[in-house]
This record gives sequence, structure tokens and C-alpha cells, in this order.
Amino acid sequence: MSLLAQLTAALAGGSVRIVDLTAPLHSDTPILQLPEIFGQTARFQLEEISRYDDRGPAWYWNNFHTGEHTGTHFDAPNHWVTGQDQHDVASVPLERLIRPAAVIDVTDRVADDHDFLLTKADVEAWQDEHGPLPEGGWLILRTGWSSRNHDQAEFLNADEFGPHTPGIDVECARWLAEEAPIIGLGVETVGTDAGAAGGFDPMYPCHTLLLGAGKYGLAQLQNVDQLPATGALVITSPLPIVTGSGSPPRVLALVED
Ligand code: MN
Repeated sequence: MSLLAQLTAALAGGSVRIVDLTAPLHSDTPILQLPEIFGQTARFQLEEISRYDDRGPAWYWNNFHTGEHTGTHFDAPNHWVTGQDQHDVASVPLERLIRPAAVIDVTDRVADDHDFLLTKADVEAWQDEHGPLPEGGWLILRTGWSSRNHDQAEFLNADEFGPHTPGIDVECARWLAEEAPIIGLGVETVGTDAGAAGGFDPMYPCHTLLLGAGKYGLAQLQNVDQLPATGALVITSPLPIVTGSGSPPRVLALVED
């Protein structure tokens, strides 16, 4: 049997499962909130064109409005000033859209500390147990944060000092960008950086360093608790928005039971 025939049979037989890592898109899907002086990403919104009515008796369809970075989304390198000369979202090579993922689970630690930051030592400890990060693959940080994805306030978890959401410290972000063999970082939170990362040096180190290195981001993932630590294959499909900085994709993972 060919490889694809084997995969087809495994999918039909259930020995390979499909996990949907994409959050549903609707007008209440939580979105990033930047300080008021900056421009903001739009909420996802449907605008009905017709629904079996005078405007179109036999058909239903919508226009939709959204930000590139609204809901589950893909960050292209040109999203950040450090990556401005690198790929736009339409230029990401197709073979990079189907890649393995390593999943580091810090859910317990995030439950105790909403400002939790992953360190290089944490990744090294993971590698001691599971082996090296996958060459050309994703690192997915499992925090449990997607359980808050139904509510904007819970998801952003902000107080007068700013948002409190988990992420990655500067040293680890630098290592992931410059030395680790990964092509990108996936997270459950609203962006790849921690809530407090606007005050880090450099600010927003995951954006600054990973996108600057031509790597990618996947934000607002869900169902990552259904992924094994190693062995999942992530298929992501950002829209080919010419010159775009990102896109809502459908993100699926294939998992072998
Ligand atoms: Mn983004």
C-alpha cells in the first residue's frame, strides 16, 4: 500500500485521529487588547448578504470581517518589525504547513501562577525525558489556558497592572529563535508572548526574536491536551493573504493512537 493509502486507511479505521486545534470563530471570540494608543484587531463578524429571502431566494451567504490576528491565528514573520523582510503569510512554503509538534505541558504550574514563564531549563528537562525538539517542527506550550477561551475577560486576565497570562522568558525565547531546530511556537493564549512581555527586554521577545529569525507563531490553540508529548503531526492552513502578516487558519493535528 502507498503511504497515502495507509494514512487513508488509518484515518478511516481510527488508528490515526484528527484533533481540531482551532477555536470556533464568532463575534464573541476573545481578541487581543492593546493599550488604547495603538490600533486594534477587529472582532470576527458576519454580515449577512442573503438568507433564502428577497436578497437571494435560494441561497444563504455572508461577508465576514476579521483581523488577521483574531481568534486562532498564524503569525507570519513580517508581523514584526524584526521580520519585515521575511515571509508574508502567503509566502510561507507549503511543506512548512505540515510539520511535527512537541508539546510541553505546564498546566499544573500555570494553575498556580498565571504569569508563569517557561525557561530554557524547562525545555532541557523535557528533552531529557522525550528527546530533542523535532527538526523543523513546532513547539506547543500547553498551559490549559484555552479553558478560558469562552470569555474575553477570563482569557485576557488583566488587572490594573496589565494582562496576566503565561508565556516564555527572554532567554528561552532567544534560544528557541536562534538555536532550537523548531520552525515555530504554538500557544493557547491570545499571542505567543506572555501577558507581561511588553515590559521585557526586548519587549515581546517571542515576537521580536522568533519572527525576526523567520520563524512562525500559532496563537489561541485549543484541544492541545489531546496531543501526545511527541509524535503529533500539525497541519495548518493560513489563508494566502498576499502581503498579509497572519491569518486565521484551520489547525488540525494527526495523532496516532
Ligand atoms: Mn498574532
